[in-house]
Amino acid sequence: MADSSQNKNEKAEKLAKDLKRKGIRDERVLAAIAKIPRDQFVEESLAEFAYLDRPLPIEAGQTISQPYTVAFQTELLQLKPGEKVLEIGTGSGYQAAVLCEMGAEVYSIERYQELYLLAKERLHRLGYTPQLFFGDGYEGLPDHAPFDKILVTAAPEEIPEKLKAQLRIGGWMVIPLGGRQGQKMTVVKRTGEKRYRQTTHGDFIFVPMQKGTKE
Ligand code: SAH
Repeated sequence: MADSSQNKNEKAEKLAKDLKRKGIRDERVLAAIAKIPRDQFVEESLAEFAYLDRPLPIEAGQTISQPYTVAFQTELLQLKPGEKVLEIGTGSGYQAAVLCEMGAEVYSIERYQELYLLAKERLHRLGYTPQLFFGDGYEGLPDHAPFDKILVTAAPEEIPEKLKAQLRIGGWMVIPLGGRQGQKMTVVKRTGEKRYRQTTHGDFIFVPMQKGTKE
């Protein structure tokens, strides 16, 4: 039976508390997670698992990231309201919803047309209005650059050069870097026209960032 929205809200709040216990400190990230109905981002048969701190399968063989990972990456962004953010890998749209809740101006790219279409319908139904694009994230969105922040939610082996160039000076990118065995969460800050500084923040496992698009 479907949950009442009251019930859902309590579950999302519990999930946010769980993440706080696990070390997420940014109250604005936690508040966004406490508000978003994550069950709406997975297929109905998985809805009962939606408020557990677990990644779940979505269409096209992809995954909705584990809530802790979403919170961790978002915390590293240190978003200010109104900042322009580019997300690579729309997937279910859940991460995009978190960024919207935090008041960012959100752009997001997905390489699977099926996922792009599903996320678009879902986000609009829930009242979120990010700008969504079907395309290859390796290209970024040159027409909309520069971005204050870039958030990559699939893992490339190396930092995509075109994305680096689409950061504003003083802005940064949060990106899991590495092969299929695992990745290092990396922050790449653009400190000058041609200067970048890199720091790493622990180990994670993401689906690979792949070239090209799939219709
Ligand atoms: N942020 C998503 C996580 C989805 S998993 C969420 O909140 O649900 C990563 C996503 O990145 C997958 O949907 C995958 O198809 C997408 N992806 C992988 N390589 C990509 C690329 N080059 N461009 C755009 N999206 C890509």
